[in-house]
Amino acid sequence: MLSKSFGVDHLKLQKGLYLSQIDHLEGTSTLTFDIRIRKPYVDPILTNIEVHTLEHCLATGVREYLNESSKKGILPIYIGPMGCATGFYIVLQFSDNIYGKENYYPVVYEILEGAISKILEMTEIPAKDKKRCGNVNTLGGIEIAYSLAKEFKQIIEKTMKSRNFDEYPMLEE
Ligand SMILES: [Zn+2]
Repeated sequence: MLSKSFGVDHLKLQKGLYLSQIDHLEGTSTLTFDIRIRKPYVDPILTNIEVHTLEHCLATGVREYLNESSKKGILPIYIGPMGCATGFYIVLQFSDNIYGKENYYPVVYEILEGAISKILEMTEIPAKDKKRCGNVNTLGGIEIAYSLAKEFKQIIEKTMKSRNFDEYPMLEE
């Protein structure tokens, strides 16, 4: 069976924040978000250095924001790059007792805005250290993190117009 993401029309999709999957298990909903930072075949893909630098900063920013805002009932499960180097996945687990579908957009918007602010406050790339990372040679400087954080912020802010996640264009059956 093909993954659902292979049904997305990558020639039509725009940069954006997409909720691509919801998985339910025992009182929790696990949400997969696709952050499309670059438009496929139009914008340049993220370089190795951009991907790796943003991975360190975004994973740290999301976790730090969640800790500090002491949000209950949300666990960050995974934050990492797409193999096609055009975007990132963020997987968050929500407690169904605390959050319903109507809460997802405002809560996720707040978390991502918070994570971006955290990145813009960083003075160095987290865990840029051979003991903590498998290849520090592909970690860039903090200015790369700032520039990507601003690119990311524009995408998140664009969703405020509809106050909802972007909608994927699907391939015809
Ligand atoms: Zn690393």
